[in-house]
Amino acid sequence: MSGRLLVVEDEEHLAAGLKLNLELEGYEVDVATTAREAGEQLLGPAGYDAIVLDIMLPDFDGFELCKRLRDAGNFVPVIMLTARSSAEDRVRGLEVGADDYLVKPFSLEELLARVRSVLRRREWEQGSRENEEPPRTLEFGRAKIDFDTHEVLVSGEPQKLTQLELDLLRYFGEHPHRVLSRDELMEKVWKLRNYSYTRTVDNFIARLRRHFEENPSQPQHFLSVRGAGYKFVPDPDATATAS
Ligand code: CA
Repeated sequence: MSGRLLVVEDEEHLAAGLKLNLELEGYEVDVATTAREAGEQLLGPAGYDAIVLDIMLPDFDGFELCKRLRDAGNFVPVIMLTARSSAEDRVRGLEVGADDYLVKPFSLEELLARVRSVLRRREWEQGSRENEEPPRTLEFGRAKIDFDTHEVLVSGEPQKLTQLELDLLRYFGEHPHRVLSRDELMEKVWKLRNYSYTRTVDNFIARLRRHFEENPSQPQHFLSVRGAGYKFVPDPDATATAS
């Protein structure tokens, strides 16, 4: 697989190691050692397919950089590197629009799997855009989503969703009322097969609930099915009447 990556990491030996290993896998890799430098490179002509972004940087941190990117309408996939395994960091990363994260120290294999996953998703996303096959819009409850323009409205209020949140939402939209296992979602949305990291799915369901449910702790649309996975119910009132 090929692609152009930006590694943002101020520890130079670590940045050099990541660059070397990613290049050995066939990627083109640039390195930025500060958030400011990364920002400039992202504005430049190169055009990146994904960013590997460390949180701890000398000027401003990875959370802030990611947030600025998303605020500017840049939805390039971001894999965050967190030094601590604290849930708080992970949640914060996902909230500012990171697509995935890795806890240091991580194995090279793990990093490569995540990179492949975000690039595959991106390819799939671009491919599906060309094919015009999947639905372009989705409406349920108070929500209206346009997958082309990334415009998401909940009760008329614009929401910012990451590419991965949109991919997951689209997959649910294509398979309403069906129980979808975490493994199926990992495979179809994250493009990862036989991958045990299914907590990722749970984190993203929590994010969709925060965006779309009136009461995220009592979801009406994104339902947990114990021991099986999740089910998307676009029209809970109609479903309740019918059963
Ligand atoms: Ca660092």
